[in-house]
Amino acid sequence: MFDVPSDPTQDSVVNYSHLVADPQRCQFASDNYAGICPEAWQAMTEANAGPAPAYGNDVWTFKAADLLRELFEVKCEVFFAFNGTASNALALAAMCQSYHSIVCHERAHIETDECGAPEFFSNGTKLMLVSGDEGKVTPEAVSEVVTRRDDIHFPKPRVLSLTQATELGTVYSLDELRALNEVARRFELRIHMDGARFANALATLKLPPKEVTWKVGVDVLCFGGTKNGMAVGEAIIFFNRELAEQFAYRCKQAGQLASKMRYLSAPWVGMLQNKVWLKNAEHANRCAARLHEALSQVPGVKFVSQRQANSVFAQMDPAVLEGLREKGWKFYTFIGAGGARFMCSWSTTEADVDALAADVREIAGRLA
Ligand SMILES: *Cc1c(COP(=O)(O)O)cnc(C)c1O
Repeated sequence: MFDVPSDPTQDSVVNYSHLVADPQRCQFASDNYAGICPEAWQAMTEANAGPAPAYGNDVWTFKAADLLRELFEVKCEVFFAFNGTASNALALAAMCQSYHSIVCHERAHIETDECGAPEFFSNGTKLMLVSGDEGKVTPEAVSEVVTRRDDIHFPKPRVLSLTQATELGTVYSLDELRALNEVARRFELRIHMDGARFANALATLKLPPKEVTWKVGVDVLCFGGTKNGMAVGEAIIFFNRELAEQFAYRCKQAGQLASKMRYLSAPWVGMLQNKVWLKNAEHANRCAARLHEALSQVPGVKFVSQRQANSVFAQMDPAVLEGLREKGWKFYTFIGAGGARFMCSWSTTEADVDALAADVREIAGRLA
């Protein structure tokens, strides 16, 4: 979120202090507060050793795409974009006509946090929202919404969009994905997966990536790199290769074709080698588990959802949250179903988690 500084024409010296995060302190607002992990940084340094062909015709980009094909054990088409919003919006546009609709959870990022980009890039495809506990779409809800109408006056459902891990920090199990695939096939819906935190989901599921993607009918996966430890970049992976036809033009038109593409793709090589992406996610998940455990000991703290990935959604006295903010902690309260969201990343430490938990305990105790 942008904090707009007060009118800069009024002051010769603008005060930015409210924008500066304390470098000594980890923050729990989001995993994109974290910096670049050493392996991604190292790969960028190596990619910077000299000139290279532009627009993705370089060794790094070819290698990153091949490593992704290796990871998913399948022939698939891979594209790299700057961010998740563009990846989701462009992928969805490739999966739909403008008279179609996309079924997603009411808390889905594509609905709540992309400023209408999916509708914009698909020229008006409608999002059809369903509710469901723990941020999850259920087969029953999908079935209900797509059978509500079948006449010419209603946009034809064409895509089921799932977020893995979900916006409430939960993870679809293999069985849940299979059931969703079944309902999707029954109604001829393609499956899009918003995997901004796909790595965190896999760290929890402990399954080969193919088992929870193309083998359960996922046509397109937007695999997040930014929140996993890269500077920028998401991989758009088409398991359904027909849908990738002419997709490069969509990326270019949307301003998502990086001319120095190697700086988007090299970090993927750094992250995919030696499973750094998985280690980062496992670490972030472990930190969240530690925080969940510590907060569950504090009287008055309740949880909005299960802790299954790298976040903890907690409800507590607003005065406690206020106290945390006064102590300089940053976290979001507008995401998900209320409460405070504490998000861990590759760079969170156990000491950070313990310091936050200690402050919650101290403030809650003082107010009790
Ligand atoms: C962060 C996030 C994205 C991507 O957001 P950008 O800011 O556009 O990179 C997409 N989906 C989910 C669920 C996210 O949390």
